[in-house]
Amino acid sequence: MGQELPDLKQLLAELIATPSVSSVDPQHDQGNLAVIELLAGWLEELGFDCQVTNLPGQPHKANLIAALEPAAVDSARADNASDTGRGGLALCGHTDTVPCNPELWQSDPFTLSERDGRLYGLGTTDMKGFLALAVEAVKGLAAEQLTAPLVLLASADEESGMAGARALEQSWPTHIRPRQALIGEPTANLPVHMHKGMMMEALHIAGRSGHSSNPELGRNALEPMTRVLQELLDWREELRARYRDERFAVPYPTLNLGHIHGGDNPNRICGSAELHIDLRPLPGMAPEQLRAELRDRLQGALGDAATDLTIRSLSVGQPPLETPRSAPIIELAERLTGHPAKAVAFATEAPYLAELGMDVLVLGPGDIECAHQPDESLAVERLQPSIELLRGFIRHFCMEEAPNHAAG
Ligand SMILES: [Zn+2]
Repeated sequence: MGQELPDLKQLLAELIATPSVSSVDPQHDQGNLAVIELLAGWLEELGFDCQVTNLPGQPHKANLIAALEPAAVDSARADNASDTGRGGLALCGHTDTVPCNPELWQSDPFTLSERDGRLYGLGTTDMKGFLALAVEAVKGLAAEQLTAPLVLLASADEESGMAGARALEQSWPTHIRPRQALIGEPTANLPVHMHKGMMMEALHIAGRSGHSSNPELGRNALEPMTRVLQELLDWREELRARYRDERFAVPYPTLNLGHIHGGDNPNRICGSAELHIDLRPLPGMAPEQLRAELRDRLQGALGDAATDLTIRSLSVGQPPLETPRSAPIIELAERLTGHPAKAVAFATEAPYLAELGMDVLVLGPGDIECAHQPDESLAVERLQPSIELLRGFIRHFCMEEAPNHAAG
């Protein structure tokens, strides 16, 4: 099986040559169907069952869930497998890339090119390189060898809102629920078990414009905005005092005042003002709760002017992630790599997989420093160790017999 499949570098070259740029700007947003087709074609050849699901309202984007299940799986056995904590594994990666500036690259971003021991191309690190490695790692596997399901998830739209990951709750087949998941985002193959969340909120104050010579002719939106600003700075100090986690490089939740706009002319009363903020919660801080607290505090600070305030979210936001160090996949990752699991500063799709009941590890071959950069690349010397590592996870969660003591 799989004899017809290209070799690893050719797999990667084909993924790189298939553009799948995600952008919040519809002009630059390309969709990912061609990449999904490539992957589904290869994985079907390898005996995987492929389910392609278009995203709601975005027919040019789709998720692929490809599953290889134990030959004689019945529900009793599947239950048993999950009782032992070895109930299968999902290898997960997003198929989209960020946009690029080809004029800043030394070679064409859509042509895989090898020089100085590195493979260059848009997505080599973030994260088509991982997808090619995952396909390579499952080559030659037969359903008869498995004791628990092995899933390859290729998602859409990670770089522009994570609509793909958010759609999984509706489309993930209920009969295939791996207990463990590995997301191959760039961590230089070091295990990551936690990251902060991300929220972006717009705070708008409505006023009424009028001639500046007489304040009675309008209602100035900038004046209550000063109270909003002060309240946010106070809240930020309180959050910083209340929450702390030394495992993060920045060990407290952050709140950034990122953008403000209001009014038009010095001789007009400011008719409306808007402030955009970015909040990065630590694990344990729930985004909905923070939104409610933000609203309460600002309404309290504004008093009578509270009716002029509207708050809207600029993005759905990403929840924070913390997979316990004791989770089987984290323990195994620490053992296989010889490194303790750590925290990173970037958000991933992991919280959405955690919501589906999986323990999620983030571990992938790329280096985050070269993601989203011109001349994005992946070290050739990472390839073989990555394949070995992925096969180690597959053997442990999908192939070995469950230990006896778990049965009692
Ligand atoms: Zn990524």
